[in-house]
Amino acid sequence: MANNTPHAIRGTQDIFGADAEAFAFVVETFEHMRKLYRFRRAEMPVFEKTEVFARSIGETTDVVSKEMYSFEDRGGESLTLRPEFTAGIARAYLTNGWQQHAPLKLVTHGPLFRYERPQKGRYRQFHQIDAEIIGAAEPQADVELLAMADQLLKELGVADGVTLQLNTLGDADSREAWRSALVGYFRDVQGELSEDSQERLEKNPLRILDSKDPRDRKFVADAPQIDDFLSGEAQDFFGAVIGGLDAAGVAYERNKALVRGLDYYRHTAFEFVTDRLGAQGTVLGGGRYDGLMESLGGPATPAVGWAAGIERLAMLVGERSEAELEVAVVAENTEREGEAARLVSIYRNAGVVAELFATGSPRKRFDRAMKVNPAAVVSLDIRDGEKREAIKHIRENARVADIFAAFVTHE
Ligand code: ATP
Ligand code: MG
Repeated sequence: MANNTPHAIRGTQDIFGADAEAFAFVVETFEHMRKLYRFRRAEMPVFEKTEVFARSIGETTDVVSKEMYSFEDRGGESLTLRPEFTAGIARAYLTNGWQQHAPLKLVTHGPLFRYERPQKGRYRQFHQIDAEIIGAAEPQADVELLAMADQLLKELGVADGVTLQLNTLGDADSREAWRSALVGYFRDVQGELSEDSQERLEKNPLRILDSKDPRDRKFVADAPQIDDFLSGEAQDFFGAVIGGLDAAGVAYERNKALVRGLDYYRHTAFEFVTDRLGAQGTVLGGGRYDGLMESLGGPATPAVGWAAGIERLAMLVGERSEAELEVAVVAENTEREGEAARLVSIYRNAGVVAELFATGSPRKRFDRAMKVNPAAVVSLDIRDGEKREAIKHIRENARVADIFAAFVTHE
């Protein structure tokens, strides 16, 4: 590589080969799932006005306070590369009057941007698949989303060693009462908490429970628990979610310290976690965000959703091979290149994975074809002034043989 070629931006990835195949497999499987569950597709802008994220995710979260890629555009407006999907989808729901579709089951996927310390499973440009149900207040919506996530992990073949951790944050009143109790509890040990958590104590004490710092962890175990503050309604809601999961055969574990990073959550909060990815163990996370639409100036709108990192899922999937070449069509004589091209298109139109070998030295084409490990090689040649066609099967494939036979007959 020449010394003066540009470097990639830190924390971005060039995904290629077996890794790109694993990435594509995650997206394809997700597409399959969302059709099975009848979620509609949306494509969203990569950037939004900064306020869309500041007002919804919350100024006190790490995402808004430290991780956003914000910039002024040429018109002097503050814009931000999306750090998550939910806020933009909520904005779109309000600007486009998607209330008419409620309850709206929606998915999207694509790149997101966060200014984080890059490491394995943590990037500055990463990718998520995302699923939301907007305008549904019933616990059945939470159950449907969780069942889809659970089935997705199974279809990807990564469900082993991945656990669904489930919690409730209660309704607004329960959450507020719990919050006060947490402030009281952590204030007594304030000096022993991490610097980050000392700051969180004033702004967003729930997030101390989410801290990975060992100085905080040791106090988390004995912290006040949400169950002591849940209203009857909030208890019923959580009970219905659990009942629905049991009915759908979705296994879960209760994690009373699970709060999720963002401010807008109410009731159900969940994460699918694994110990197979080191420190970056959360593969999928989400919950109910009934308060979000109002923070954007819209009408009260119940909603629930989740997002999963495609890279982390792809790491669990492992390397995947590219599609097998079913037939290599070789023109061993320049005069037969046109027919070889025609045969390749016949194969492809019939849905057979085919590749043409009709460039470079005719004598080397057959060997080049063999090197890419095709299931079969068809060669078209001219010997002693006569056309010759041959098929060599490395692995049996009836369709390849039938199409070859028909082609030879019609020559
Ligand atoms: P973490 O605790 O790992 O920082 P988070 O709570 O910030 O995760 P969410 O905002 O809930 O993550 O995003 C959902 C999912 O997106 C995560 O579970 C993870 O799989 C993925 N994800 C989040 N940030 C990154 C990143 N910087 N690089 C790669 N994947 C990420
Ligand atoms: Mg994060």
